[in-house]
Amino acid sequence: MYRAKDLGKNRYEFYSAWMNGHSARSLALESGLRRAIERNELALHYQAKVDSHNGRIAGMEALVRWRHPELGLVPPDQFIPLAEETGLIVPLSRWVLNEACRQHAEWVNAGFPPVRIAVNLSARQFVEDGLCEEVFATLALHGLDARLLELEITESMVMANTERTFEALARLRSSGIRIAIDDFGVGYSSLSQLKQFPVDVIKIDRSFIRDIPGDPSDAAITDAIIAMSKRLKVITVAEGVETPHQWHFLREHGCDEIQGYYFCKPLEAQAFLAYALKNMEETAPA
Ligand code: C2E
Ligand code: MG
Ligand code: MG
Ligand code: MG
Repeated sequence: MYRAKDLGKNRYEFYSAWMNGHSARSLALESGLRRAIERNELALHYQAKVDSHNGRIAGMEALVRWRHPELGLVPPDQFIPLAEETGLIVPLSRWVLNEACRQHAEWVNAGFPPVRIAVNLSARQFVEDGLCEEVFATLALHGLDARLLELEITESMVMANTERTFEALARLRSSGIRIAIDDFGVGYSSLSQLKQFPVDVIKIDRSFIRDIPGDPSDAAITDAIIAMSKRLKVITVAEGVETPHQWHFLREHGCDEIQGYYFCKPLEAQAFLAYALKNMEETAPA
């Protein structure tokens, strides 16, 4: 629960936020978010991506959560947009990248299989100077191989396609980092843009996966995205896979990797490590 005093002393701020359609909750979140990083309230959860053929762990995605002292675990959809509006996304993203690399390097050093870790980027980060330098410095700091890092961007960033974004992605990619397009199919990127774009992975949006194999349109779209990706030599990942039927459909249509609750929910670091070790044991070749 939040109390009136958490909303800030300034009533005007509250009313203007209200008039702008912001809720009191988002106002409380905004003021808290400024301190969340310093107070160590952010945490990463990890979700596996598995090889669609054998279920073996092929990678993982780091997903940020906020352990709010009063509101409990706040999902990113409730504070990432706010962080983007306020510019707090920059320090927040820096924390996420560092923590993901730190954790992964620790796991690799402890004998964890060297699979990719994916981190979500925000459009705002391409506006700031020094994104590439920051990424390279973070990898170096933790001694993590660039080939173990994947950066997820959304279609709107592809659309923006400014010279700057394009160059930054090309530079990151030439160091061995993989670039993935997240939530593919719901944005407005055109196929011609995709062709020009330096991208390694396409993540098919969950909205297409939800009703396969039953829904003929979604099945056709998913099939077409996979076929197109193959021609472009791009790896496909299906998001939001919750049933064996979805998995089987995707596997039969040539989708490379599967991400979703059916195999693995986003887990805290400890629980994820346990999942990964068990997965390795169960799927080890005889
Ligand atoms: P996303 O990058 O597309 O991440 C996938 C989201 O789908 C995650 O939600 C994940 O928990 C959820 N998901 C995975 N499998 C399933 C499934 O089988 N069924 C259903 N219903 N959902 C599934 P989450 O963690 O709430 O993250 C939401 C979004 O917030 C992410 O979407 C991403 O756009 C953003 N986000 C998360 N972490 C970060 C971050 O560190 N930085 C930035 N800039 N954005 C982030
Ligand atoms: Mg993502
Ligand atoms: Mg996604
Ligand atoms: Mg999403």
